[in-house]
Amino acid sequence: MSPDFDAIIIGAGVSGLYQLYRLRQLGMKVRVFESGSGVGGTWYWNRYPGARFDSESYTYTYSFSRELLEEWDWQERFASQPETERYLNHVAEKFDLRRAIQFDSRVAAARYREETRSWDVALDDGRRYTTRFLITAVGCLSAPTMPRIAGMESFRGPSFHTHYWPDEPVSFEGKRVAVIGTGASAVQLIPEVAKTVGHLTVFQRTPNWCAPLHNGRISDDEMRRIRGSYPEIFARCNESPGCFIHKPDRRNTLEVSPEEREAFWEKLYAEPGFGIWQGNFRDIFTDRRANALVSDFIARKIRQRVKDPAVAEKLIPKNHGFGTRRVPLETSYYEVYNRPNVKLVDLNETPIERITPTGIKTSGAEYEFDMIIYATGFDAITGSFDRIDIRGIDGVLLKGKWKDGPQTYLGVLVEGFPNMLMVMGPHAALGNFPRAVEYNVDWVAALIRFAREREVTRIEATAAGVARWTEHVIETGDGLLFNEVDSWMTGVNRNVAGKETRKIMRYSGGHPTFREHCDAVAADGYRELALA
Ligand SMILES: Cc1cc2nc3c(=O)[nH]c(=O)nc-3n(C[C@H](O)[C@H](O)[C@H](O)COP(=O)(O)OP(=O)(O)OC[C@H]3O[C@@H](n4cnc5c(N)ncnc54)[C@H](O)[C@@H]3O)c2cc1C
Repeated sequence: MSPDFDAIIIGAGVSGLYQLYRLRQLGMKVRVFESGSGVGGTWYWNRYPGARFDSESYTYTYSFSRELLEEWDWQERFASQPETERYLNHVAEKFDLRRAIQFDSRVAAARYREETRSWDVALDDGRRYTTRFLITAVGCLSAPTMPRIAGMESFRGPSFHTHYWPDEPVSFEGKRVAVIGTGASAVQLIPEVAKTVGHLTVFQRTPNWCAPLHNGRISDDEMRRIRGSYPEIFARCNESPGCFIHKPDRRNTLEVSPEEREAFWEKLYAEPGFGIWQGNFRDIFTDRRANALVSDFIARKIRQRVKDPAVAEKLIPKNHGFGTRRVPLETSYYEVYNRPNVKLVDLNETPIERITPTGIKTSGAEYEFDMIIYATGFDAITGSFDRIDIRGIDGVLLKGKWKDGPQTYLGVLVEGFPNMLMVMGPHAALGNFPRAVEYNVDWVAALIRFAREREVTRIEATAAGVARWTEHVIETGDGLLFNEVDSWMTGVNRNVAGKETRKIMRYSGGHPTFREHCDAVAADGYRELALA
């Protein structure tokens, strides 16, 4: 008996939507399961005030349809969540994607059946389906985590995680609000809350190096110019390691005179977007002296912007250098701490002991709140996989297989899990997402087309192929300061059991090299894979 579907895709974010579009073009019978009630993934869930791109909107756009590029006007240089959600809904409408998506459907388990070379997929409500190919487009930042603090359920006021923000407006007017966490979401949220809050207390464990976003409207004229240069914009993104419009400066930090360096950093700091991170001297990620200099530059900026020197010091990271974790971009974040009604609590000095019915008790004080906001981030990269009971040949559990770190072939396939293909899986190259996603999805679609044309019904990574790729991924991470720091990019999340130690979670050899590897495998007729 043939399976119910040629392909099941898990997730209807940027990745899942485009994968659906591509597989439909191959004439396949496809179903998407999405646990949310709408399309958009990240941009469906994260509705917290201030949620927006750190990528330039016009670089985050899909490039596969000329018509889509022609008809969509981005309103802001860094679009807010509502704008992006509208965009992804527009894409779903335009390409008639919605009829293949089953919303409010969480995939709880998936099991490979060798007899039929297919997957059994079970939803959490018990419904079951079968499919030849299982495609995970589950997102690398889509499994939110709560901190492990006693008494959380006892709090009597409303509390929210930024990821699960409600659709209805939430008023902070006159309220005493606590924000726990100072990662990228918190850095976007805090200035918005501060605008109307009665009193805001921010609980910080690890400060991040943040830099100004410099958002602005995109005028009609500018949009016309952008539209006229889309091919160059995409080409430029594809040449850069992270698929961003900002390309690293080829010079080394210490090659440049102190005056010139300072002027360069001032210029980057004053420019919109990730330039200060992705367009900086290339050695700030590898050379400790270079990194210390740029960190010192950003620290001086923080000291200039935060009036109270003691607060400024708390906001300056001491356990990692600038750019070695994802840099949150901000709009007046540091100035928030100059307000008389905003307090920063350093959890290294006074850890939280418990959440009480009326607020938060630290080792130093007891605070009363009307609302608590958890901006405590995600169980990144493998979190969404871990939440599904995925079992390959002989019932082997994927989570168990990856216990000591992910092992994949090109971030797409896993040995022992035939016909499971991952979009933006672990050990793939991350970066400005849609740029990376389009490549990844096209690669997966081409492999499936290749298989279907040859009546291949089983695709599996080989142990040797996985070993080679894993080794290469680990090698490319060598010497990168990034990998010497605890962060979601190195698989550390102190709120998740078993994620206390660093692992190599992503490919850090840059997108152009990643593509070279993947292109070579395709050009070679996928001979590194076991096809049957
Ligand atoms: C607040 C925030 C801001 C960001 N800003 C940027 C940015 O500026 N630039 C950038 O490049 N990237 C950014 N990212 C990264 C962002 O996640 C990607 O840009 C992109 O949206 C990911 O798309 P995706 O489709 O791969 O995953 P997601 O958008 O995460 O979509 C995955 C979907 O899978 C669904 N899903 C997961 N598991 C299951 C299951 N078991 N059953 C059913 N459905 C499931 C989820 O509900 C979700 O809808 C940001 C992330 C966050 C959280």
